Amino acid sequence: MVFEYAPAPESRSIVSIAPEYGLFIDGGFTAPVDDQLFTTTNPATEEVLSRVSEAREHDVDRAVAAARRAFEQTWGPMPGAERAKYLYRIARLIQERSRELAVLETLDNGKPIKETRDVDLPLVAAHFFYHAGWADKLEHAGYGPSPRPLGVAGQIIPWNFPLLMLAWKVAPALACGNTVVLKAAETTPLTALAFAEICQQADLPPGVVNILTGAGDTGRMLVEHPGTDKIAFTGSTDVGRSIMRAVAGTDKRLTLELGGKGANVVFDDAPIDETVEGIVSGIFFNQGHVCCAGSRLLLQESVADEVVERLKERLSTLRLGDPLDKNTDIGAINSAEQLARIDELAKSGEEENAERWSSPCPLPDRGWWFPPTIFTGVTQAHRIAREEIFGPVLSVLTFRTPDEAVAKANNTPFGLSAGIWTEKGSRILWMAQRMRAGVVWANTFNRFDPTSPFGGYKESGFGREGGIQGLGAYLATEVAR
Ligand code: NAP
Ligand code: MG
Repeated sequence: MVFEYAPAPESRSIVSIAPEYGLFIDGGFTAPVDDQLFTTTNPATEEVLSRVSEAREHDVDRAVAAARRAFEQTWGPMPGAERAKYLYRIARLIQERSRELAVLETLDNGKPIKETRDVDLPLVAAHFFYHAGWADKLEHAGYGPSPRPLGVAGQIIPWNFPLLMLAWKVAPALACGNTVVLKAAETTPLTALAFAEICQQADLPPGVVNILTGAGDTGRMLVEHPGTDKIAFTGSTDVGRSIMRAVAGTDKRLTLELGGKGANVVFDDAPIDETVEGIVSGIFFNQGHVCCAGSRLLLQESVADEVVERLKERLSTLRLGDPLDKNTDIGAINSAEQLARIDELAKSGEEENAERWSSPCPLPDRGWWFPPTIFTGVTQAHRIAREEIFGPVLSVLTFRTPDEAVAKANNTPFGLSAGIWTEKGSRILWMAQRMRAGVVWANTFNRFDPTSPFGGYKESGFGREGGIQGLGAYLATEVAR
């Protein structure tokens, strides 16, 4: 029995969205030029929210030149204690404007307000606070007595956590004394542009942060630009490969945060209620648009049927719909293109004879939606067990022994995240040592903290973001950690 809740919509009146936006270069916004504009849409309603500018070659040139000037003249020479003040100011402004930013992110991305308000925005502020703390203490970070910044960082982010990915990139870069040119994702440019305003409010010197909007081509120009000293990319493994090829043979530094196919491993002694909640947040958080999602559930055979039954019951109670409603658990799929990709992979699961179950929740008429879905009877050979779906779709496999669980968990070209559910501490340690994944969660999933390094193995990329390890990606004197 599902309780009926009265609607509890968050007001969108707190947000004002301009009809058109220019690019944020050298401390100011360029005037929007008609033939450079493209639209950004609310994926829950298909309403056009605004028109933003596609950065072209000369815009990328100007942004990189502005970042170079700022690096040489203001930001680079500035003492760390002074840089810290700006970062604290930015963190405080984000907190002050967090409700507005949460609503804006929900409108542009389609994710529930519950997530933007309670997860994304607090983490965004936390990343700036944490890195503000490092700015004047870098000589104690273990990278030598006077670690130097790299210079101009070109940063490219995806659409799944737009403002959070910006924070992961911008905060450590600035703390270490670099300047940045960041390209937002095509479908989610609005919070990056709001962040540009925050840089102005914080009186950040011109050119320290430059925000470009555009499509993949703008990202490519930034990567290939001879004026960038470092490229930081979060996105798909395919684009990551092309970036690696473009950077090869140059002296640019590179970090890549790419896709994943995380195993969430459940042993028969795991506490079942907590485990079911953890499975749900592992794959249905943010509509499954999470690189480190627990998208492969490995169940010990003796509890498999019971866990699947309980999971179906729980999924039937998730509310899908208006992302601005505070009771909504599952929001919209970010784009028609992403929905088509999820559909195609789900169909492949059916064609390859896995058994599909989807929550019976009604889907809204407009916008892009996909119901929480699980596949049972999945084997390692299925595409849905090997390829990243990046949507609310869980593939369930089974195992008998811990050795088999390790072998199956590691049988993937990716290596970003993994989860372990068991009552035994010794088993957690035994498993964690054997899982080839950058993050291993035990009896929890999808928890993030700015003090904790995040990154992958194998085709999930290299380099770490967050923590003391993440600073190394923006310093010239990297010591292997
Ligand atoms: P994507 O196509 O790789 O896009 C990521 C970013 O790169 C976007 O800003 C995109 O611009 C830009 N881009 C596209 N082609 C480019 C090129 N040739 N050169 C430079 N930049 C280019 O990925 P997506 O489909 O938007 O995002 C989903 C993927 O990102 C998933 O595979 C997911 O696993 C991965 N991801 C990984 C992490 C992590 O931390 N490891 C985090 C989040 C997402 P447009 O937006 O205009 O296409
Ligand atoms: Mg959008």
